[in-house]
Amino acid sequence: MFSKEMADLGKKRSTIREIFEYGNTRAKEIGRENIYDFSLGNPSIPAPSAMSEYLRELIENEKPELLHGYTSAQGAENVRISIAESLNRRFATSFNKDNIYMTVGAAAALSIVLKALTEPADEFIVFAPFFPEYRCFIESGAKAKCVVIPPDRENFQINFDEFEKAISENTKGVIVNSPNNPSGAVYSEETIKKLASLLEKKSEEYNHPIFLISDEPYREIVYDGLNIPFVTKYYKNTIVCYSYSKALSLAGERIGYVLVPNEVTNSKDIYAAVCGAGRILGYVCAPAMFQRVVAAFSDSTSDISIYEKNRNLLYDNLSKYGYKMVKPQGAFYIFLKALEEDEHAFCEKAKKYELLLVPGTDFGCPGYVRLSYCVSTSMIEKSLPLFEKLAKDYE
Ligand code: PLP
Repeated sequence: MFSKEMADLGKKRSTIREIFEYGNTRAKEIGRENIYDFSLGNPSIPAPSAMSEYLRELIENEKPELLHGYTSAQGAENVRISIAESLNRRFATSFNKDNIYMTVGAAAALSIVLKALTEPADEFIVFAPFFPEYRCFIESGAKAKCVVIPPDRENFQINFDEFEKAISENTKGVIVNSPNNPSGAVYSEETIKKLASLLEKKSEEYNHPIFLISDEPYREIVYDGLNIPFVTKYYKNTIVCYSYSKALSLAGERIGYVLVPNEVTNSKDIYAAVCGAGRILGYVCAPAMFQRVVAAFSDSTSDISIYEKNRNLLYDNLSKYGYKMVKPQGAFYIFLKALEEDEHAFCEKAKKYELLLVPGTDFGCPGYVRLSYCVSTSMIEKSLPLFEKLAKDYE
């Protein structure tokens, strides 16, 4: 009568969204100012102010059929040219419009790439802790197997021994996400080189390419002056999934892209498969107005400096109260060790103080909780005494 698998997915909303909805209900009861919602990665800072002016210009002066009409299925040509040029300027690469496919955010980019690559019996490797939707996109979307590498709780970097053991003849790809949601970990150039050389070795051993899918919604959000290596330069079979949701604060506009470099094995066919997957998943022609916007703002970000301030405030104070965590180097999440083994029980206790945290189990890392700090600094300041009380409850 209907797909039970889809109905189950629809009934069991993501835990993050459940908590977000709980926060909304609670806000109606006791006022938004009394809720400390650290659940959702929804940027609190505005998009660059020049963007409003750009949008106004566009709406007033563009022909309506161009403003709201369909673009090419893979995105408007001039938009893809601008994005390729922006990447080339910033990362000394040589991409062109035919390497780029505009999508409805990174979620669609990932769904499309997984669908485009998957053949029967394929497996994709993910490193815990990982963005929980990966499992849905791999298992329910692409009908492939999701192989999880257990977390390295010391520093949330890649556990190479476990990783090497998990690669098999059926491994079609590996998803990496640096800066990472939920741990805030960033992979160094050395790590990317090690990853690339292992994948090259294994691709040769199994006589087929193993693709590296680099999921990069947080590429620009890094701290302490760190530099993020541009992964396509280290491993030829890299496909990038990018999103403008985070660094440009455009999460609700649903815009991003897939990048398939020419160096990728069978690159033209894979780009065609991306177009095919976009077609059958119904993602052709990403939102037209925001294609224009991101093309015009591809070299910019919102004022993301507030996130480093928030990270420092939380990390310094929570450490002082006795919480244990790895200091995040990027993105806008802190992954805390819960103060009791069952992190769900810990999250329930936190709710007593109206602190809304996300349990780590869905990220593949039980015993931990995620705090999203893309919120106002004043909310963090007000929440600190409550975190202190919560810690005292465990003394
Ligand atoms: N990948 C990761 C690691 C994320 O954290 C998110 C969103 O939070 C996404 C993908 C999806 O991003 P988008 O809003 O562009 O669909």
